[in-house]
Amino acid sequence: MSSSPCPCKSGLPFGACCEPFLTGSAMPQTAEQLMRSRYSAFAKGKISYLKETLWPKFQPEFDFATTAKWAADNHWTGLSVMKCERGEPTDRDGTVLFEAKYLAGGALKTHRELSHFRKKSGRWYYVEALPEE
Ligand SMILES: [Zn+2]
Repeated sequence: MSSSPCPCKSGLPFGACCEPFLTGSAMPQTAEQLMRSRYSAFAKGKISYLKETLWPKFQPEFDFATTAKWAADNHWTGLSVMKCERGEPTDRDGTVLFEAKYLAGGALKTHRELSHFRKKSGRWYYVEALPEE
């Protein structure tokens, strides 16, 4: 279990935050936990996790090589979760608004997204990016 800080900047050790989700020893109970663990998967280069947590219908189109290259080419510096709606353990869907910061070719960039999550057979999945209102 890793005691270094979690890449998702929760303030918790990696081993007490996203690591159990990335290794499959636990499943995220909320949309925010899934969102955070997907960010950590980018930061750690765990591309298979990004595919596994994608809504099943979209998994066949997942571009492993392009995603792996994007994850590896950037240096992931932090995550801010701005807003969560629903996405609690008792919900069936939810949204998370977040900003992920990363260095790309020496420039600090921000990826801001309103993500839609849905639950299927008790498991949370990332569905798609929604337009922000
Ligand atoms: Zn985390």
